[in-house]
Amino acid sequence: MSTAIQSRVAFIGSECYPFVKTGGLGDVMYALPRALIREGCQVRVLLPLYRVIPQKYKDQMTWKGSFMMNLTQDGREFFVGIMEMEKDGVLYDFIENREFFDWGNPYTGLWEDIPKYCYFSKAALAALNYLNWVPDVVHCHDWQAALAPVYLRTLFAPTPVGSARSILTIHNLRFQGICSIEHLKYWSGLPDDLFNYSVFLINDHEANMFKGGLAYADRVTTVSETYAREIQTDFYGEGLNSHLWYHREKLSGIVNGIDVDQWDPRRDSRLPENYGPEDVLERKWKNKLALQQRLGLTEDAGKFVIGLISRLTDQKGLDLVNTVFEQMLDDQTQIVILGTGDPRYEGSFRYFENVHHGQVCSCILYDEGLSHQIYAGADALLVPSLFEPCGLTQLIAMRYGTVPFVRETGGLKDTVEPYNANTGAGNGFTFDRYRADLLLDTVRRGRDVFVNNRPAWDAIVRRDMEKDVSWDRSARQYLNLYSELKK
Ligand code: ADP
Repeated sequence: MSTAIQSRVAFIGSECYPFVKTGGLGDVMYALPRALIREGCQVRVLLPLYRVIPQKYKDQMTWKGSFMMNLTQDGREFFVGIMEMEKDGVLYDFIENREFFDWGNPYTGLWEDIPKYCYFSKAALAALNYLNWVPDVVHCHDWQAALAPVYLRTLFAPTPVGSARSILTIHNLRFQGICSIEHLKYWSGLPDDLFNYSVFLINDHEANMFKGGLAYADRVTTVSETYAREIQTDFYGEGLNSHLWYHREKLSGIVNGIDVDQWDPRRDSRLPENYGPEDVLERKWKNKLALQQRLGLTEDAGKFVIGLISRLTDQKGLDLVNTVFEQMLDDQTQIVILGTGDPRYEGSFRYFENVHHGQVCSCILYDEGLSHQIYAGADALLVPSLFEPCGLTQLIAMRYGTVPFVRETGGLKDTVEPYNANTGAGNGFTFDRYRADLLLDTVRRGRDVFVNNRPAWDAIVRRDMEKDVSWDRSARQYLNLYSELKK
């Protein structure tokens, strides 16, 4: 605790619940600072002030000041405003610049996103200097904040914030911030000598922001131990495997948790019926009936309801789901999908709903409230990902007594112990190789336990609800890392 009390950490990232969230990164940026504060850490979170941030939060912010900052190769100056608010002990500093952040959505296309996040990484460090708040550690997240460790050791080295150490956390290696060398040189304003193969270059005409950040960060973490190993291989490395292998001494995996107050079936106001591990068997089924009613499915608590809550992208294993969709369905089974993304998957799921009315519901939208009702109302949650750095949906599902059916990759492998029919142990049903027949087999095995061995199924449900999926353990691991860096 004593070292923790002294730790000052600045989080730099492109999204954070409840202000703006497109995926798991937003959840982590919300929950981890809160968990660190409980351990005695001081945390500031730096975010862009996007136009989409709801007005009710903007109304709570106070103006901390502004300055001009040079950014580009030719020294163009840009406005940096700082708006601040405190929420549950965490200080949030929003970087204001209408030119970059007034477009609506956070991500608008790589061509604009590269300048936007060059600006943001630099402005976040400049804001720390302006606020006269020098952290021990600057904790940066994903490619959007990857230039911060580079700026820290170069242009900011002689400034107060230059004394901080840096961590870069990989939430998803698929997105890296790749563009032409000239584009990055111009917008980052970084010295020419960084544009070499050890730092930014990936070929003779393209540069990669994530690659540079990984080279310059003092430590690199990712969100599960398995993913930390996987990304050093050709298959999962997204072209950066050799670079990551080269930097392996500073790479480690710390699995994510979830905010157990935000995700609490006992007190979740979005649920028709609240429940905990002690009364899950008596109460959870009422959520299933309410879900079936809301979505126009046949109302029957005896049905086996499979949920899928996901961005609809190739990463999530949806081609496997499409391949065996019809075979996964039988008289006892219903499937509920919540997600948006690739039109190919949106279309196929709409098709399945049309063909199997009353048995399949495809909700092609982003709806936080409905996600809670599916986590509570489904029996099983499908996460057959091609790769999954950590995955939060399987953790939320377990907390809600919904059994995860997952592929053994990344954080899914680290958090879901496969059911063992001999001992009865395990948290869910799993398969290893990326094959549709193995997914189908997993669904059938799981359903068989649900239908024919309900005591065993109920034991898994209770065990899942009692599993510690909170941030506490992971937050302590991050604290140890901060302490090591301070030494
Ligand atoms: P990723 O970050 O790759 O999208 P994660 O499993 O780490 O995947 O996190 C996904 C988060 O986004 C979870 O909190 C999940 O509940 C939420 N989510 C995904 N799609 C939707 C949707 N269509 N509606 C509501 N919440 C969603």
